[in-house]
Amino acid sequence: MYNVAIIGSGCAGNTAAVYAARANLKPLVMEGLEAGGQLSLTTMVENFPGFPDGILGPELVANIKKQGERFGAEYRAGEVTAADLARRPFRLTLDGQEVVEARTLIVASGASARWLGIPSEQKLIGHGVSSCATCDGFFFRDRPVMVVGGGDSAMEEGTFLTKFASEVTICHRRDQFRASKIMLDRARRNEKIKWITDTAVEEVYDVAKNEVTGVRLHNVKTNERRDQKVDGLFLAIGHVPNTKIFRGQLELDAEGYVISKGGARTNVPGVFHAGDVQDRHYRQAVTAAGMGCMAAIEAERFLEAEGR
Ligand code: NAP
Repeated sequence: MYNVAIIGSGCAGNTAAVYAARANLKPLVMEGLEAGGQLSLTTMVENFPGFPDGILGPELVANIKKQGERFGAEYRAGEVTAADLARRPFRLTLDGQEVVEARTLIVASGASARWLGIPSEQKLIGHGVSSCATCDGFFFRDRPVMVVGGGDSAMEEGTFLTKFASEVTICHRRDQFRASKIMLDRARRNEKIKWITDTAVEEVYDVAKNEVTGVRLHNVKTNERRDQKVDGLFLAIGHVPNTKIFRGQLELDAEGYVISKGGARTNVPGVFHAGDVQDRHYRQAVTAAGMGCMAAIEAERFLEAEGR
């Protein structure tokens, strides 16, 4: 029986582990399918406070894990495939087999960026393909990039990228935009942004060189295909919160994000949230770490109130 179980090993989960372990609660972290979370998909992180020369994303997250382990956090590889939050202790099934019991639970299972899913795109993630302009835009100074998507994120990322890139092409699969008028208008006023509509990215070049050199585009209306040279490809086609196992137990919004009940609390007493599983707005490593800290402190106080 664990005092604190943590689902997820990104910045949020690992920071929760540091705090819970330092409070002598011997937390268990179940790492999940994407161990290390979204940071493990990026290269240099230059905006995490305390690293004036930047730090590699995978290194940052590994360091936080090491910090937790130093204070007694236990880590297990594997995915939590089922959760029973109806009664305490909570019961969590790891990889469909082992059942773990915990007095409190911190849900830090994150949100996964939605990808196009084509093999060349997947192979070039971190090598010119990115889902985070804030993280990676800086690397594309004076180079042409493409943003895929037609929502607010695509407008925001596209506009942000014009600070660095020589040219930003927003490529959208329809000719109607989901983005709010204000964000769309702001992007439209930006002369560095070019527009391609009714078009899908079909292929990303060049896997053999291990860098992005261009894309093959398919106009879904005219059926025409052509290549375009770009050095970076940013996907802004939404995120999917990893909350499937909590449906019907935790209060989720229409898109599946955990609804916060203030602080790090969920609707179930003893279950706390941290990071992108609840946060659709900031999605930064540092905000996730902050929420991980909050969730661990709340779990500690919750246990204390029960006399543990
Ligand atoms: P979104 O609104 O769901 O838009 C996703 C976009 O990606 C849509 O245009 C969609 O096309 C496209 N798309 C989805 N799957 C695709 C695929 N497989 N291939 C190609 N295109 C695909 O997501 P979001 O832009 O990330 O925004 C999420 C939420 O956060 C929204 O509520 C948004 O308002 C909010 N947000 C707000 C701000 C802000 O106010 N500053 C900034 C960012 C996000 P279709 O339109 O054809 O479906």
